[in-house]
Amino acid sequence: MANELRFDDQVVVITGAGAGLGREYAKLLASRGAKVVVNDLGGSRHGDGGGASKAADEVVKEIVAAGGQAVADYNSVEQGDKIIETAIRHWKRVDVLINNAGILRDITIKNMTDKDWDVIMAVHLTGAYKTTRAAWPYFRKQRYGRVINTSSSSGLFGNFGQSNYAGKSTAKLALVGFTETLAKEGGKYNITANVLAPGAASRLTETIWPPDMMNVMAPAWVAPLVATLVHASCKESGSIFEAAAGHYSKVRWVRSKGLVLRADDSLTPGALLKGWAKVRDFRDAEHPTRVADSMALLQEALQLPPNEP
Ligand code: NAD
Repeated sequence: MANELRFDDQVVVITGAGAGLGREYAKLLASRGAKVVVNDLGGSRHGDGGGASKAADEVVKEIVAAGGQAVADYNSVEQGDKIIETAIRHWKRVDVLINNAGILRDITIKNMTDKDWDVIMAVHLTGAYKTTRAAWPYFRKQRYGRVINTSSSSGLFGNFGQSNYAGKSTAKLALVGFTETLAKEGGKYNITANVLAPGAASRLTETIWPPDMMNVMAPAWVAPLVATLVHASCKESGSIFEAAAGHYSKVRWVRSKGLVLRADDSLTPGALLKGWAKVRDFRDAEHPTRVADSMALLQEALQLPPNEP
């Protein structure tokens, strides 16, 4: 039962935990015994400003008032190593890393500036890299670690005006590849890494969603999935989950069985076009999770008699 999950003696770092989703993760995990580093630089939703300690301090105050343990950290995730240092300085360890900090700079590709692109990449992608790179040696040494990287449905599926977000969409999808590789590298050290694509009312969504939708999308309802995934008993790794308004689901890759053509002079663009329906036919589809899966399919394809073009 999720209600029984405890995190006593676990040190949890949550980036961007001064508001929205991160604040809920911090409160839930602290209420179950975790020692939480509440990181937040207190910037605007577009990534301007910062240096305001208030957001992180408020969450720490709430946790401590409820009998929990937390410390504030005001670094930008772009200096993620300093955030991990805060955990080590206070509690001499780090067990869980939740990369959650995020901003938006929605703009179409036509109007985008290099700054719009760079800032989004720096916060979402480089930020997650910097914290993870710094925490990794501790995880390996103690043969234990839990990582959550925060993606988005706009990263998984693309979204108008978010080629940077999807650049956040792009940065957010890059986090999927990053996480899937962390899961493979961390496996033998009992380090798991998963991707979360959340949906919740926050300052990031308040100008996008109508008020009736905001009312049913409490960030607190995403937090139980995060707590489950970062618990020691959960071995799930390299997976992508969606969570919003009490709905939880897993997303995975799907690949068509495909078309096999004879690898000789008859293999032309026209022959490929003729068999196009087979290339995109998802009956008997596969769900690859490793590069080796793709090689195995290729081996199998080479044994098959080619489809007649
Ligand atoms: P939010 O704006 O309420 O909270 C994000 C927090 O991150 C803010 O407090 C902000 O100060 C902090 N932050 C921003 N840049 C930072 C930096 N460089 N260093 C440290 N802290 C920084 O937003 P939220 O909705 O809670 O979003 C949390 C995460 O979930 C983000 O990564 C966001 O992209 C992702 N997400 C949210 C939704 C949603 O529906 N709310 C949907 C998809 C993805």
